[in-house]
Amino acid sequence: MILSLVEHAGGRPEETSLEALTLARELATATDAALEAVAFGAESAALGEKIGDYGVETLHHVGDERLDTYAPEAWAESIAQLLDATDPEAVVAPGTDRGQEVLAHVGARRDLPMAANCLDVEAGDVYELSRQRWGGSLVEHACLDSDTKLVTVAEHEFSPETAAEPTDTSVQPFEPSLDESAFRVTVDRVEESDETGVSLGEARVVVGGGRGVGDPEDYDKLETLADSLSGTVGASRAAVNEGWRPHDDQIGQTGTKISPDLYVACGISGAVQHMVGCKGADNILAINTDPEAAIMQKADYAVVGDLHEVVPELNDALADER
Ligand SMILES: Cc1cc2nc3c(=O)[nH]c(=O)nc-3n(C[C@H](O)[C@H](O)[C@H](O)COP(=O)(O)OP(=O)(O)OC[C@H]3O[C@@H](n4cnc5c(N)ncnc54)[C@H](O)[C@@H]3O)c2cc1C
Repeated sequence: MILSLVEHAGGRPEETSLEALTLARELATATDAALEAVAFGAESAALGEKIGDYGVETLHHVGDERLDTYAPEAWAESIAQLLDATDPEAVVAPGTDRGQEVLAHVGARRDLPMAANCLDVEAGDVYELSRQRWGGSLVEHACLDSDTKLVTVAEHEFSPETAAEPTDTSVQPFEPSLDESAFRVTVDRVEESDETGVSLGEARVVVGGGRGVGDPEDYDKLETLADSLSGTVGASRAAVNEGWRPHDDQIGQTGTKISPDLYVACGISGAVQHMVGCKGADNILAINTDPEAAIMQKADYAVVGDLHEVVPELNDALADER
């Protein structure tokens, strides 16, 4: 059996969890094993209706109300106890902050090896895999040899694909024994971001602004462009460090990884730490005054010019279209 961790928002699976389920199903199919899932919180029971499309036969629903909010050690202890009860060949989690943290705790609790940020996994007694290192700037080939293998899936490197035949998922409550020591770290408050509309990680169009934008007010031009393309605005770390944009907007190694159809990078030089966050974009359009900027080599389309002229022209052209 292959067990996959599913993160969700109010019973709706996160995109990255569907990516992980897609890889988990490939592994299950290759070894003729069942695909099962585990999810936390009262609302996770609703996932049963949604993940059957991905071939999940059984959902282990950990409904303990203390797990409605994130508690990394308690999630990990629950999974460790589920491993004891079900003995899966592998546990597959999304390569999110939570997926990495929880699986690392599971590995520590059961002395199991873990491969993080996998891009490709070939099933067998020993898994042969490739995985991202150094924020995605290096790909490493590795072997994972253990009775139970722990794997996280690099974010936005897989397209979620439903199974050829949907399954009726059986929802099974799982009640781990958790003492207070498992709740040393818990989320006690969540602040909603000011962001409205489509989230950066899931947007089909992202307009990014870097230090070249020059000041916070000039992001209005980028907002207009993003609105007319039904997209959202992101930023480089330089722009965030300047205080022009909130950290939520940061794209890159220490920010959000995006995978839009189109990324319009305005006044961004293309540092490696930025590019690892946007290499999942299908198309990159760079607007930069410097034809030698690194991003100009990496972009699919490049406009050498001042963004303060080019972006308003794009906005006018798009307004004329309407
Ligand atoms: C551990 C670590 C983690 C990091 N994580 C991240 C991360 O997650 N995300 C991230 O973005 N960075 C990250 N960085 C920082 C990264 O190395 C770069 O410093 C940063 O991306 C640079 O931002 P920038 O391209 O906006 O600024 P700059 O490098 O200063 O580039 C500005 C660009 O704007 C162009 N420009 C200027 N004026 C105009 C104009 N009027 N019109 C058009 N173009 C113009 C310039 O030619 C230049 O190419 C990280 C660094 C470290 C060490």
